[in-house]
Amino acid sequence: MYEAVGRFFSRFAAILVYATATLAVAHAAEPPRLVLQITIDQLRGDMLPRYRDRLGTSGFRRLLDGGVWYTNANYGTSNTFTASGHAVLVTGADTAEHGMVGNYWFDRTLGKRVTSVFDPEFVVSPRSLLSTTIGDEIVSGLHGARAFAVAGKDRSAIIPAGRRGRAYWYSDDTGAFGASAYYGKDIVQWVKAWNDAKPADRYSGRSWTPLDASRAGGTSDESTNRYAVPYPGLGKSFPHPLPDRRDAKFYEALPETPFIDELMLDFSRELVTRENLGGGPSPDYLSISLSAVDYVGHAYGPNSAEYADTIVRLDAVLGRFLDFIDQRVGIGRTLIVLSADHGVDEIPEVRAAQGYDAGRLYPDKILERVNSALKSRFKVNDALVAAFVPPGAYLDRAKIAALGLDASSVESALAEELRGVPGIAYAIKRSDLMTGNVPQTALMRQVQRGFYAARSGDVVIVQKQFWFMYVDPECCASMHGSPYSYDTFVPVVFAGDGLGPAKIARPVEPASIAPTIAAILGITAPSGSTAPVLTEIVEHR
Ligand SMILES: [Zn+2]
Repeated sequence: MYEAVGRFFSRFAAILVYATATLAVAHAAEPPRLVLQITIDQLRGDMLPRYRDRLGTSGFRRLLDGGVWYTNANYGTSNTFTASGHAVLVTGADTAEHGMVGNYWFDRTLGKRVTSVFDPEFVVSPRSLLSTTIGDEIVSGLHGARAFAVAGKDRSAIIPAGRRGRAYWYSDDTGAFGASAYYGKDIVQWVKAWNDAKPADRYSGRSWTPLDASRAGGTSDESTNRYAVPYPGLGKSFPHPLPDRRDAKFYEALPETPFIDELMLDFSRELVTRENLGGGPSPDYLSISLSAVDYVGHAYGPNSAEYADTIVRLDAVLGRFLDFIDQRVGIGRTLIVLSADHGVDEIPEVRAAQGYDAGRLYPDKILERVNSALKSRFKVNDALVAAFVPPGAYLDRAKIAALGLDASSVESALAEELRGVPGIAYAIKRSDLMTGNVPQTALMRQVQRGFYAARSGDVVIVQKQFWFMYVDPECCASMHGSPYSYDTFVPVVFAGDGLGPAKIARPVEPASIAPTIAAILGITAPSGSTAPVLTEIVEHR
């Protein structure tokens, strides 16, 4: 009896070993043919579970239910903006190593505010990105692999494409998909043909109405639409009529509706087909950044019916796109990563009405206020602060030197003045961030990891919770960009490629995505990457 059981177990064990070995061999022989990194701009981590009952089975739920879903992923940095978030997602680096302190910063050499992808030679390019990207590493490390990035915004395509990939993004001047001359002067024929057919024009004069009129209220209270800041002409509540294409504003208004994501995925489908992505000798890389959720969230708030409808519509078009990928490449041979560049907060006026201390910071007024305070403190006539580009105040160092003032006294005085501004929680000096002389709190750690001395301000501020802070204080109804949970919380999902299903609740950061992709493919992680690999993904593949 004992012997029989023993034999049974040893035979069972042998079968197990054999099965495991076969599985390992099968996987090793079949690397993914395509790495598909999908980024939903402004998709806070609770949004997909919130609207779960309205989602189909082929879109988001195919990834959430079938893949490995990290339900507790937060950015570990304070600068939760589009450029910084995308940089983290594709480099796995902290700010000092990827360089994208925000969508904008003050360039001390040029003496002006620049965008994250500004390039004096090519208008826009990835030259400000300090680290390699996962796309760069795929092209460098795998023979014949190619990298592409598609987005609704220039920065969301250019940063993921890195220097070795090619970026295409929607132009709100022309409705066409363009690229920077940085990528070469040659016109790509299929892109030209696609643009010549003017596919954006099919939305001319279309009216955006909710898919499910009975739920037009979403989860919002009725006051939300009062505070909406829609694109001029689209209106504060449903239906939102798009202008006619002959109206110069049509191409600018289109991204403020869910239709832009449909267009984006149509273009992506064309790109996969024409470039034969997934058909080469090594896995290709495609980054798709979908931005309608961000535009709509900014305009109507994250609890609006518009935000909910945008997610439901995106789910449907994403489902069709994943069906296409399945037919063409095979979901099992595609490594899919879904995440978001940042979350979002409720409209500050709604927060205030709920009894919270909430409001808006006005950068120009703050600059004026601190400059006049410093003038009287140091008894000078000149402005000592050159710029305030949230979250940084930048000193005019040349002027301070010319006036014979002590730079560190001016820096301290500026921090002190900023601390007195309503809505500002902390004002931290550059010298303290560089030497690590900050309180040992989790929040300060986020600020340090969001800091890059060459581009951040001489004093970095953190707004209080629920306070809206952006270069344009009235651009939008709601905002992100803070170190608080509503801005840092995002989904992280690995799917396809034989992964899942699994739901993992341990805390992780989106920064782990790029080094994990690298580990799966057996290539070097992006140069600036310091985040740990997600071991569940690599070990269970
Ligand atoms: Zn945004």
